[in-house]
Amino acid sequence: MEKQNKSAMADGRTLVKLVYFSANGDNCEESRDGSIVVRSGCSVLQGRLCFAKFETRKIDDCLEFIRFNILQHSGVHQHPNGTARDKLSIKATGGGAFKFADLFNEKLGILFDKEDEMHCLVGGVNFLLKTVPREAFTYLDGQKEFVQIDHNDLYPYLLVNIGSGVSMIKVDGDGKYERISGTSLGGGTFLGLGKLLTKCKSFDELLELSHHGNNRVIDMLVGDIYGGTDYSKIGLSSTAIASSFGKAISDGKELEDYQPEDVARSLLRMISNNIGQIAYLNALRFGLKRIFFGGFFIRGHEYTMDTISVAVHFWSRGEAKAMFLRHEGFLGALGAFASYKD
Ligand code: ADP
Repeated sequence: MEKQNKSAMADGRTLVKLVYFSANGDNCEESRDGSIVVRSGCSVLQGRLCFAKFETRKIDDCLEFIRFNILQHSGVHQHPNGTARDKLSIKATGGGAFKFADLFNEKLGILFDKEDEMHCLVGGVNFLLKTVPREAFTYLDGQKEFVQIDHNDLYPYLLVNIGSGVSMIKVDGDGKYERISGTSLGGGTFLGLGKLLTKCKSFDELLELSHHGNNRVIDMLVGDIYGGTDYSKIGLSSTAIASSFGKAISDGKELEDYQPEDVARSLLRMISNNIGQIAYLNALRFGLKRIFFGGFFIRGHEYTMDTISVAVHFWSRGEAKAMFLRHEGFLGALGAFASYKD
């Protein structure tokens, strides 16, 4: 296949992500995540990497998008009834590589060239850190700071991918990695519990709601236990959370008595804090200095990143820093894209 016609797809539990190459960028939908300008020594690869995402339950929108933005724009005319030799093949990873294979073949005449999900995830991060300037950054106290990555001193690092669940992967090199830990309390938990507790219909709605809330209304703080003071003997400030949602046990209130924004905020804080803590403990376990957080749960959201950063800072006593990635939600799809042989 011509390099210009390369695209890759990653399907998660909730979202389908698409990465495609555009020679002139005019079929590139600008998204918050931004496109990547690709300049390799090879003139054919001058252009842009573009990104798109679709809810898995709206897969028809994804098919239409591909038909219009990728097939038509690149002048590829697919005949769904054509023979396998005539068909366009794209890299695909994740559950959808299996689930949607027949659908893509029937509707678009596209065949999937399947790649392993974790391999793509790690490949995507390595690709970003090695080729995209200003990709990694820290976020603390409202300050975003880009981190200069020395390509010769990249490994080992810990990759924490926060999707529906959470995977923690020790990365030692290209294609050299081990899943060392994880937790089932991830983005799916935030979204699932959030929908049940606040009646929000979507992730964006829930995130927006959390923005306006105050978790202290429902979380039990150290100060709530010790009469408003710090427990300085063991290094806990009065504002540290002693128990997420802990106030609900003694307030005599029902769910309806709490503001949904406070519940959403508390939930976001609970999930982010917990992941930050587990991540740091695993970094400590393997002596890893760098921790990169990715996955679509983060969505560049300031409060989420701040909470994760504070957790890593707190548990490491300032020794470790959480780092985030600008293209955090497209890691698997990028890895699948990067796996094309030139
Ligand atoms: P996975 O492949 O495990 O599904 P993702 O990286 O796609 O992982 O992340 C899924 C999570 O991203 C969801 O559980 C949710 O917390 C979050 N998320 C972010 N944006 C959206 C969205 N528009 N719709 C649904 N979930 C979203």
